[in-house]
Amino acid sequence: MNSHLPCQGCRGLCCGPVPVTEQELKKIRKKVKAMPAKIRVELKNQQRHFGTCMFYDMEKDKCGIHDARPSVCRAFGHYSNLVCFRKPKAAAAEPWRSLGSTVGILSVDFTWRDFK
Ligand code: SF4
Ligand code: SF4
Repeated sequence: MNSHLPCQGCRGLCCGPVPVTEQELKKIRKKVKAMPAKIRVELKNQQRHFGTCMFYDMEKDKCGIHDARPSVCRAFGHYSNLVCFRKPKAAAAEPWRSLGSTVGILSVDFTWRDFK
């Protein structure tokens, strides 16, 4: 989800399983650990559509780890290989490339069990 795009109301439309680097994973772990237990449990137990990112907050209609979200999420909508479905013109001609090596996919390789 990106703040310069018309994200409100998308309800996680583009938030699927995303690749993470070791550094991003570390940042997310720190973020989840710092959440009040009540918020963490609520986020964890939310019903999501099949394939929707485990950190998407369905109730608040936004990313549940926004300031710790991976770089691919920040880049979404602004590159030719990450085109926003609602505002395709916001994408530049060049593709996005990850600056680090991916250690796995959120929601697939890393689930809530990995963020205790
Ligand atoms: S599809 Fe586009 S407008 Fe919708 S949440 Fe994703 S980036 Fe935002
Ligand atoms: S980390 Fe946040 S922005 Fe990225 S896919 Fe998950 S919910 Fe969406």
